[in-house]
Amino acid sequence: MPELPEVEVTRRSFADRIAGAQVQGALMGKPLRWPLGADPATLTGRHVLAVGRRGKYLLIHLNQGVLLVHLGMSGSLQFAGELPERGVHDHFELHTSRGLLRLHDPRRFGAVVLVDSMEDPRARKLLDGLGVEPLEPGFDPVGFHMALQQRRASIKQVLLAGDVVVGVGNIYASEALFMAGIRPTVRADRLSRPRATRLHGAIVHVLQRALALGGSTLRDFSSADGQSGYFQMDAMVYGRDGQPCRACGTPVRQLRQGQRSTYFCPRCQKP
Ligand SMILES: [Zn+2]
Repeated sequence: MPELPEVEVTRRSFADRIAGAQVQGALMGKPLRWPLGADPATLTGRHVLAVGRRGKYLLIHLNQGVLLVHLGMSGSLQFAGELPERGVHDHFELHTSRGLLRLHDPRRFGAVVLVDSMEDPRARKLLDGLGVEPLEPGFDPVGFHMALQQRRASIKQVLLAGDVVVGVGNIYASEALFMAGIRPTVRADRLSRPRATRLHGAIVHVLQRALALGGSTLRDFSSADGQSGYFQMDAMVYGRDGQPCRACGTPVRQLRQGQRSTYFCPRCQKP
């Protein structure tokens, strides 16, 4: 599943190239998670101003309106002057004067939504509940600790909920908790200031490292193969149930938290 670093890598891979382009046509394939909300033909003639991001939503700002793009479970974007003929899993295309932007999404949990502005009720509904951006200055250790003190759920579930800090998905939450030495089951409001501070630093580190790794795959991104452009990090605990902890050798354990698998080292990560 594309997580925040992959979405940011995607954004960087085409934002500069598409800025200033004029839309020459748009095409919707099979229905996605949410409807576009307009006839695709109405996009023709509009200009792309910039591509931003909020959480895992890409925000394609037009001179009139904003396209919210979510990659869902299996989506990927390509942007190139020329792409192979549209395949059965390509469900959105934006033809522009600078190239073709295409959403490839086999499972169709992704979405492209056109809103008049960021104040549009549909935009507010999708974006208003999102927590602070983890890679921006608004994410600071003191504010993070204060927000955690309001929450009684486990720290892992609070991170995944995305309303304290946005975009820390299952892999990165597991890895950050390992790096901070915190057991995923610890109640969020029981974390001391020093532990919350350590976790804050670990979240930033893990996401930035993933971004740096993703950056190295950028040149593959606009290749004909729509699958490339994502990356796997060398996980310390995630997906390593029963394997020795890379730090201490104790077998990594797995447990279920709110339908999601969590991985941790029972020795390195304190309750
Ligand atoms: Zn360990």
